[in-house]
Amino acid sequence: MFETLPRSAHDVMGWSWAHYEPYYRDLQTRPLDAASVAGWLADWTRINELLDEVGTRLEVATTLDTTDKAAEAAFIRYLDDIRPAFSSAEQTLKEKLLASGLEPEGFAIPLRNLRGEAALFREANIPLQVQVNKLSLEYDRIAGAQSVEWDGDDKTLTQAYALLESLDPDARETLWRKIADRHLQDRESLNSLWQQLLGLRQQIATNAGFDSFRDYQWKQFGRFDYTPADCETFQSSIEAVVVPAATRVYERRARQTGVGAARPWDMQRDNVYPPAFPRLKPFDTTEQLENTAQAIFDRVDPKLGEYYGILRRENLLDLGNRKGKGPGGYCTRFLVEKRPFIFMNAVGSAEDVITLLHESGHAFHGFETNDLPYSQQKAYPIEFAEVASMSMELLSAPYWSASEGGYYSAADTAHARRQHLEHILLFWPFMAVVDAFQHWVYTHVDEALDPNQCDAKWGQLWDRFIPGMDWSGLDAMKVTGWQRKLHIFQIPFYYVDYGLAQLGAVQVWRNAQHDQAQAVANYRRGLALGGTATLPDLFATAGARFAFDADILRESVDLIERTLDELS
Ligand SMILES: [Zn+2]
Repeated sequence: MFETLPRSAHDVMGWSWAHYEPYYRDLQTRPLDAASVAGWLADWTRINELLDEVGTRLEVATTLDTTDKAAEAAFIRYLDDIRPAFSSAEQTLKEKLLASGLEPEGFAIPLRNLRGEAALFREANIPLQVQVNKLSLEYDRIAGAQSVEWDGDDKTLTQAYALLESLDPDARETLWRKIADRHLQDRESLNSLWQQLLGLRQQIATNAGFDSFRDYQWKQFGRFDYTPADCETFQSSIEAVVVPAATRVYERRARQTGVGAARPWDMQRDNVYPPAFPRLKPFDTTEQLENTAQAIFDRVDPKLGEYYGILRRENLLDLGNRKGKGPGGYCTRFLVEKRPFIFMNAVGSAEDVITLLHESGHAFHGFETNDLPYSQQKAYPIEFAEVASMSMELLSAPYWSASEGGYYSAADTAHARRQHLEHILLFWPFMAVVDAFQHWVYTHVDEALDPNQCDAKWGQLWDRFIPGMDWSGLDAMKVTGWQRKLHIFQIPFYYVDYGLAQLGAVQVWRNAQHDQAQAVANYRRGLALGGTATLPDLFATAGARFAFDADILRESVDLIERTLDELS
């Protein structure tokens, strides 16, 4: 046992790598056999969680106040001085565990993942990966520099997109066209970035002994429970079942706004999701946002309400928007203290409510896995992590109205719930475009190196999966959509995960219609497995089927459309 290792991250915040190194050396040299493995894993977990929590705390501090130079310097020092040594020390312990041939209880899945990771490692890929990371930053730089002038102000495109929904239809179209022109100015530089990235990825795959980068990335993501063919099945199922329902959403939306067909400037993010008309106003203050969620979680499940109470009591929620705070929202966890932390930038919108419910689902996942003994067992797959969070959006929906303790009047509740359910229907087809495009790219690399062919493919897929919107006269903007999806440039193949998780979440919600207590109990049992089970087992424990077929999608879409009817 590590008698001298401090128990709290607060006691080691100023440590350099030299302080940690002896503990890793001890683990590297200590004899490892059936008798000693439990103690060895326990000590590994302690040092791993301590270092992880230090890094998390330093990173969180930089998002709480982006102007805090000391916080930034401390995090950079961690990244430079500690993170690389931490990674390679972890790597040697992983190799030691694999070489021992031991299979401790509850380690079948973590070991499967470690073996997959170890098999991919190639020295020759390290410099290529550095180049990929640099090009990835270049993508951020290009996107970050894009701005348009509006009302005499220079607006980033993020700000400009956010403005769209507050404008009247004519102004909306004008601003959208400005945004489109600005995007298209970078068409050539993004094309050239793309060609470089694609070439590097193909080389990385070849070096690791794969014909295609798709097969490489599959291993890299630890996707042992589903295949590229399953994803193609999922795409076809979405086309058959979800696309008609999504088209009905667009048609309804066009009728409401009194135009002939939904146009891209009527949409928000990714030109896919219609905004709420009229805008909803669920809360005025951050306190209201926070307190009301307590009433909702108490209704969903007493234990989950208790978890949320801990977050509030222990100041583990930073919800409001303020100057200097970093963008976006996230849930992270302090592994030693066994506590999640939720960060977001609430301004009073319906999306803020969804964000808090969603991130709280991630937080509950953290609480539920606290009793697993070893850190490798607590790392759950992303496909299931999002079941935890997306289910919480849906499970909480019956309590969104003020009469149930929630945020909205009766009319606004219906409006908010419709909007939420419609977004689920519109997400799947969009996800299918992003996913199908990438399957085509990495199985047709020679063609995909030609950006014109990428444009053509994207346009074709858009017509196949999103026929409900009118893009006439906007061809250049339509076919370059792939350039605006950062996942395609930066995290290839990472997107279907959300679609699969959404399907799991709808099934958890379906179960709750029949027996909420049982559905939530199963959900919590699934969460509590952490990373110790396969995806099919995690889903099954939570009461869902890990699936790609049209039948399960049809059941889910029917339930959503039935609920939409009830709410109208
Ligand atoms: Zn999430």
